[in-house]
Amino acid sequence: MKRYDCLTLFPDMMRAVLGESIIGRAAAAGILDIRMHNIRDYAHDKHRHVDDVPYGGGTGMVMQPGPIYEAYHAVVDELETKPRVIYLSPQGRVFDQQIAKELAKEDHLLFLCGHYEGVDERILEEIVDEELSIGDFVLTGGEIPAMAVIDAVARLVPGVLASEESYQEESHYSGLLEYPQYTRPPEFLGRTVPEVLLSGHHANIAQWRREQALLRTLHKRPDMLARAELTEQDRAFLQKNMPD
Ligand code: SAM
Repeated sequence: MKRYDCLTLFPDMMRAVLGESIIGRAAAAGILDIRMHNIRDYAHDKHRHVDDVPYGGGTGMVMQPGPIYEAYHAVVDELETKPRVIYLSPQGRVFDQQIAKELAKEDHLLFLCGHYEGVDERILEEIVDEELSIGDFVLTGGEIPAMAVIDAVARLVPGVLASEESYQEESHYSGLLEYPQYTRPPEFLGRTVPEVLLSGHHANIAQWRREQALLRTLHKRPDMLARAELTEQDRAFLQKNMPD
């Protein structure tokens, strides 16, 4: 079983999202153990404050290190092995499918979600192993990024999806975007499904899908081709289809 702990000020938001659908079912089936911890439970004043004004002045509030430190210890003090601790931050390494694959191998991850102007730097120095960003933009809190990372990582854990093939052919897994998908009906608003997909000829279908994946990547994300695993045949196909 894989375990994911989240230190957050909004545990209900995270429970609501991660408790649904594929991730929620995997947790119910005992494949994933996802736990939320409310940082506010570790505040000590009577208004349960967890933030304060920044030293040096400026706008906004900064999350204090004390409550986060206590929340962290409440989780790790009961463990034999310390989990890898990730702080969601717009300053972090930009998350992608490669990092998702790498994190899916870890048995236990702990996510720290910031809010307001962020967290006191000293808590990062003390407990955090790495910072991850979900892109070059700023959100109000780390909850959505943490849920995005958990969702992307957890679906690579064996048993969470019905079959490993479901993600191995997907966009980004092998460095290409996925081929177009179709389902019933065979005709919709006059648009038909490509004939090869109805042929039942597995080799032709596989070749068509590979070529479509190459074409899509060439047209939508040509930057990805430099890093994709390509055969000689793939390269020849791309050469023939290069835009002028
Ligand atoms: N003042 C911080 C800065 O400029 O680097 C931004 C703080 S942001 C408003 C509040 C929290 O949202 C952060 O502590 C972080 O946990 C989370 N966050 C915001 N954008 C993010 C992103 N792109 N990726 C991951 N986490 C993000």
